[in-house]
Amino acid sequence: MAKKNTHYCSFCGRPESETDMLISGMEAKICNLCADQANLIIKEELGSKKKPCGPHHHNELKPTEIKAFLDTYVIGQEDAKKVLAVAVYNHYKRISQLFDENEVEIEKSNIILVGETGTGKTLLAKTIARMLHVPFAIADATVLTEAGYVGEDVESILTRLLQAADYDVPSAEKGIIFIDEIDKIARKSDNPSITRDVSGEGVQQALLKLLEGTAVNVPPQGGRKHPEQKMISVDTKNILFIAGGAFQGIERIIANRLRTNVVGYSVAGSKDDVVDKENLLQYISPRDLKGFGLIPEIVGRMPVLTYLDPLDKEALKRILTEPKNAITKQFEKLFGMDNVQLTFEDGALDLIVEKSIEFKLGARGLRSIMEGILIDAMFELPGKKRVKSLNITRDYAEEKFTRTNITKLKAAV
Ligand code: ADP
Repeated sequence: MAKKNTHYCSFCGRPESETDMLISGMEAKICNLCADQANLIIKEELGSKKKPCGPHHHNELKPTEIKAFLDTYVIGQEDAKKVLAVAVYNHYKRISQLFDENEVEIEKSNIILVGETGTGKTLLAKTIARMLHVPFAIADATVLTEAGYVGEDVESILTRLLQAADYDVPSAEKGIIFIDEIDKIARKSDNPSITRDVSGEGVQQALLKLLEGTAVNVPPQGGRKHPEQKMISVDTKNILFIAGGAFQGIERIIANRLRTNVVGYSVAGSKDDVVDKENLLQYISPRDLKGFGLIPEIVGRMPVLTYLDPLDKEALKRILTEPKNAITKQFEKLFGMDNVQLTFEDGALDLIVEKSIEFKLGARGLRSIMEGILIDAMFELPGKKRVKSLNITRDYAEEKFTRTNITKLKAAV
């Protein structure tokens, strides 16, 4: 016989002892099992009624608004932001047109971002996905191999997108995939006949299929395909691919094309346009990507090409303080939660930027340096109720920085 004050699930009647948890409402209780089931029913019901997912308001967002959104998270990179804003705007316009047979079919605007590592390529792609409320996945091109080789199949990229979309296939089919380090799968030579660099070219070929738009059978849990595994079919036609790479050494190819190695530097043909030799990436063209070793078909399927500027001292300082989730703001908030008002003197910020440049840590290093400087305070202050504020001066920052382990810092970025 049940004890007098045993509680029961109002849905299935199980006593509390047979459940992991019993949640009480005003006049009823529900056990964890019934709650799980209710959740499934909701998902199923709402899932079938959901509007075609993806960006709810993409039609309303104009390129200038997309750029303004990017501005709140990404410092500088004006050209890239503008080009991306237009490409994304056109991409979602294209999706909304797709079902009209009589319309001119607008080609997909997959994008290649060329720029040094740590300049904001991933951040740009991520921010766009965040703005559009579409699923987003990052794939590292270096781990991809052709089917049958050790490494990940190209389809694994789609597994990740599916997971990001919570296995909602229509939603995944309108998502964004960022392919990092696309330059690492380049052919070693421009001339296919003299190279047998199968891995790079094979992966490019496999990737090409995804870019072209095709229904792909995707293993839902990732890993290798094997016959018993149930596959999910994902159409890549409307997935926006953004690829990024540092393309180290491509400046030489650009320079050759612009003939800057000859005296009298000027952009092909025009005498007035003097080439800015410090930042040759801004002149990048699809031809240079082919010269670097991307196969022409890949370059053709990624028609939007733009570049990112290297980050100088001023940009790094802005990155520290300006973006919506800037590092200083994050730490101010963390300290604020312990009722400590954290402030930074300008000199301290300069020091962080200088150290990041000195040790070649780039934007990624800013956070690690900041952590190193604040670790003692974060350790000690929560126990000291009387401390209500902490002002980080240059001297304080310098003293703490000298105690951080640079080797560890370098490994962290
Ligand atoms: P990439 O993909 O070019 O290698 P990331 O986008 O991953 O570089 O940048 C690494 C980190 O550095 C970002 O998460 C961000 O915190 C910071 N960062 C880099 N560039 C910028 C930028 N232009 N504006 C704001 N933050 C940036």
